Amino acid sequence: MADDDPFENMLAQMDRAEEFADVTHGVFERLKHPERTLKVTLPVELDSGDVEVFKGYRCQFDSARGPFKGGVRYHPSVTQEEVEALAGWMTWKTALVDLPFGGAKGGVICEPKDLTDNDLENLTRRYTEGIRRLIGPETDVPAPDMNTNPQTMAWMMDTYSMYEGYSVPKVVTGKPLELGGTPGRIAATGRGVSIVTERLFDYLENDLSEASVAIQGFGNVGSHAARMLDDAGARVVATSDVSGAVYDPDGLDVSTLGAHVDAGGLIEEYTRGDLRVEDRTRWDEGQAISNEELLTLDVDVLIPAAVEGVITNDNADDIRANAIVEAANGPTTVAADEILSERDVQIVPDILANAGGVIVSYLEWVQNSQEFSWPLETVNAELERRIGSAFDETIERYDEGAIPDLRTAAYTLALERTARAHEYRGLFP
Ligand code: NAD
Repeated sequence: MADDDPFENMLAQMDRAEEFADVTHGVFERLKHPERTLKVTLPVELDSGDVEVFKGYRCQFDSARGPFKGGVRYHPSVTQEEVEALAGWMTWKTALVDLPFGGAKGGVICEPKDLTDNDLENLTRRYTEGIRRLIGPETDVPAPDMNTNPQTMAWMMDTYSMYEGYSVPKVVTGKPLELGGTPGRIAATGRGVSIVTERLFDYLENDLSEASVAIQGFGNVGSHAARMLDDAGARVVATSDVSGAVYDPDGLDVSTLGAHVDAGGLIEEYTRGDLRVEDRTRWDEGQAISNEELLTLDVDVLIPAAVEGVITNDNADDIRANAIVEAANGPTTVAADEILSERDVQIVPDILANAGGVIVSYLEWVQNSQEFSWPLETVNAELERRIGSAFDETIERYDEGAIPDLRTAAYTLALERTARAHEYRGLFP
């Protein structure tokens, strides 16, 4: 098996769980295939005057438990296999945290850095038109993922609504507040990562305020996780973006770094002292290291929060963290997982660790259904309750003793829930 094929990795993770899950082989086989994947061609006239033809996908993996749900990613490395793996992971994630949703994912092959805002709007509208027949408030509800944001969701919602002839806020989640978004959505995934990290420390009877943390990726998820773990007393010693990583064994100044990145700055500029913020009083540039070096730092917790497939056969032996909390989707390949599991490195799997985003997306969708909005405290309390109970259920399954690691424990729960839904519904026709 290719170590870098995300779909093959997802299937291998399922296979590891099969012997422990109470699922008949026939239903299990059914769960290995996406219901459908739509591939769309997207010709867009760019501001430069050129017409560029982009390719996009929407994979609907499984809807036995409810409408399809999953983000849309803009990235040059998007492939059909990647979108299908991500849609599968969404299916197991919504089942594990017990949301009444199935799993889906979308992606467009593009380099957003090379596109103007106007180009991105036109591309988003064209992509929405392309997948319009699949999505809908009761059928398939997109959300942001890498390089997409509330503005992208606003364009998607507007394009869909224009065809319907009335406003349909419920067709996407992760919207701006003014269009029916929920307070707490932007920080939700990072908040969930921080909550499960705290729970893991409680479970292992270790003190988070004594812990050092390295976070790969300082985007939406990584930066919010960093801020919340910093608030919880942990020492965030390293983080990175696509330009490189910064390391300070005494702990980074997360708030200055956050302000610099929020103002459009890169980590590489930060380590050079080229800051985008006025207040430099607390600033200490730290040491510039590479993304690869960040992964093998001697820290208590490693949080990959960028792209998939970064912890592999090649570097698993060099990982020195005692625990890994998977904020990104699919950061650990199956081969690396086996190596780390043998070394007793505790891994909180992506389908649990980064489920905060889809939980709060669900809460947004519920508020849109109710045509009512909740205060931030209600949203955050419900997020903590839901991700906390999924964590406890996963630990309970793992503590029964037969299952070798937390990922496999989480998969058995998710596969059983999805399989039960299939069994009750039966085969149509
Ligand atoms: P983002 O685009 O906001 O941030 C990504 C970060 O990773 C940036 O700092 C970027 O510079 C960095 N990065 C990109 N490519 C890299 C590479 N090759 N090496 C090192 N760093 C790289 O994206 P995000 O929304 O924070 O998502 C990050 C991960 O979390 C993805 O795997 C995504 O699928 C997953 N996730 C996101 C959400 C969400 O709500 N945003 C929910 C669940 C899972």
